[in-house]
Amino acid sequence: MNPVRLRIRLRGIVQGVGFRPFVHNLARRHGLSGFVLNSSAGLITEVEGDPAELALFRHALSSEAPPLAWIQETETTELPATGEIGFGIRESQAITGEFALISPDVATCAECLRDITDPANRRFGYPFTNCTNCGPRYTIIRDIPYDRPNTTMADFRMCPDCQAEYDDPANRRFHAQPNACQACGPSLSAPLEEARRRLAAGEILAIKGLGGYHLACDARNEAAVHSLRLRKRRSDKPFAVMARSLAAAEGLCEITETDRAALLGPRHPIVILRSRKAWPAVAPGNPTLGVMLPYTPLHHLLFEGAPYDALVMTSGNLSEEPIVVDNVEAVTRLGGVADWFLTHNRDIYMRADDSVVRSFEGRQRVLRRSRGFAPQTLDLGRTVPELLAVGGELKNAFCLTKGRHAILSQHIGDLENYETLVFFLETLANLKKLFRVEPRAIAHDLHPGYLSTRLALEIPGLPKIGVQHHHAHIAGCMLENGLDGEVTGVAFDGTGYGTDGAIWGGEFLVAGYAGFTRRAHIRYAPLAGGDAAIREPWRSALAYVPHLAGVPEQKQRVVRRMVEIGLNTVQTSSCGRLFDAVAALIGLRYEVNFEGQAAIELEAIADPSVETRYDFCLTGEELDFRPAIQSIAASTEPRPVIAARFHNTVADAIVHTCRQIGLPRVCLSGGTFQNMKLLSRTVPALRRAGFTVYLHEKVPPNDGGIALGQAAIAAATAPW
Ligand code: ZN
Ligand code: ZN
Ligand code: FE
Repeated sequence: MNPVRLRIRLRGIVQGVGFRPFVHNLARRHGLSGFVLNSSAGLITEVEGDPAELALFRHALSSEAPPLAWIQETETTELPATGEIGFGIRESQAITGEFALISPDVATCAECLRDITDPANRRFGYPFTNCTNCGPRYTIIRDIPYDRPNTTMADFRMCPDCQAEYDDPANRRFHAQPNACQACGPSLSAPLEEARRRLAAGEILAIKGLGGYHLACDARNEAAVHSLRLRKRRSDKPFAVMARSLAAAEGLCEITETDRAALLGPRHPIVILRSRKAWPAVAPGNPTLGVMLPYTPLHHLLFEGAPYDALVMTSGNLSEEPIVVDNVEAVTRLGGVADWFLTHNRDIYMRADDSVVRSFEGRQRVLRRSRGFAPQTLDLGRTVPELLAVGGELKNAFCLTKGRHAILSQHIGDLENYETLVFFLETLANLKKLFRVEPRAIAHDLHPGYLSTRLALEIPGLPKIGVQHHHAHIAGCMLENGLDGEVTGVAFDGTGYGTDGAIWGGEFLVAGYAGFTRRAHIRYAPLAGGDAAIREPWRSALAYVPHLAGVPEQKQRVVRRMVEIGLNTVQTSSCGRLFDAVAALIGLRYEVNFEGQAAIELEAIADPSVETRYDFCLTGEELDFRPAIQSIAASTEPRPVIAARFHNTVADAIVHTCRQIGLPRVCLSGGTFQNMKLLSRTVPALRRAGFTVYLHEKVPPNDGGIALGQAAIAAATAPW
């Protein structure tokens, strides 16, 4: 039969995941000639030979693809046969204006782990071991195509052994760009043994990781954890823990099948798990613990032969600043926190914090989307013009669009200081370059005070699209669930600027991408004191009761007076503030040290066996919880019963209001739905009432997800 030649272009995650050697071996197996190469427009292969073999080749291309690959699009063209002999891997090509998807960083694979723990292997004990199936990607890539000179590995010249692996298509390290060994690759600033000894002795170490520095100490050493808190100026927000192994993690926490898959998967995020015992120093007052497993060879080696089985591993930063990546910066910024530094000479190009997931109904749901997830794109469902959505203020992430791709940045953080703003701008410049995006319009939150809003409005020349905060929450949820048309969107959170100038946060919207109608909301309550009102939940309680036990009367008098004359007072429908009011009313919490703390503690104490609720009423647009609050204020029941009944009340009120609105599809979004007690009560109740319920999975329900919604709304409404 006459030979046929095909040109196949694959797009998706097909670079840096061992795709070229796979194609090479596959072509040989089917006796085909031709070549394969990486380009900035994806992976391109031309294959020539027997038509039957070509058909088998094409089938195997997707059915046998390497584990980390993801083929989004295949484009095949028939070409005249050239009589080419042999199959080769050609130089990468940069094609102007084209872009390729970039793999997120991948946790150390089982084979590399075997290499570093085998005394006979030449990489025994080498902390920068990696292969085409694992290792750093996004955090070291400076430009595409993904080749060594475009990474922070450019300065390391491979030794003959490493070069031989790199050149051998049969080798697991064939074209593994960060390939290295102790003879030629990056090295540590100090021996691992000393790091282990110091950790075991209770010291706090700054350790350079994949996407930034960690601050680490022995999780079981309460004195060490305590001094880390003091030095990091972090009063009682929980710390994440890295456990030696899955078995060690199982000793700390209860782990479901879904959790196990999350812990062991290629992303290795922090997984929120139910603790088996209390951790007063690591996670005060919290029944859960954020746990991850070692995800770089350095982490694995830190546990090798060490007496500890769990380390606190928290982002190397001060309070709410971005994670430190630079070695010099590390010494100046972390010098007052760490007793000692374990660093290395492989540069981090892009910062990325550890991601956080939590499982619900058998799915891992992202709460902080960063290392291992970014810069993987989400499908917009159709091609849209190039856009920038700048996101919100807290837990900021922004979103760019390119073709059908929504490129959601890694978690940037709270845009409240200069360092975080710089991180935002650096990441924006980098993602625009990597994905070749030149935005034609900018979407932003309506809140005039957000740094992100001001930033967007200062960019000259481009159309600006203001998007209401809760509309963005719901549009993001719709987009990731592939929904169109109109849904009932329940957006419950702490704060979002409303179209009437009030602070919204307990919203029932009938929403599509192009617009929304506010159909119901939690009844407005006055809130005095701006930011202080968020730090001091007792101020929320005063909207419902005239006096509150546990807070000095003269402070209360000031707040009551402020409300009376409207001084520094806003009207709010915030669900977060409603939780605050309840926490203060039952004397659980009058002041908080981090966002959401009162609600988290209220959830933590709720008695799961309680089925009853309090009264509420829905009058017109107003969902009024005053009857519930009056009952709580007068109640003599134990706090766990009250907390449970309150959660049940909110869940029932959601179902009741969705019934009144009547649409069959309900999207739940906003930070409040990180509350598992509320979620596990609301979702089944909505289903029993006949609704189809949609939740977040790939993007956070908190403000880390709103940039995606802003992008979806801008794409539907921009003046093209
Ligand atoms: Zn590997
Ligand atoms: Zn080497
Ligand atoms: Fe929000």
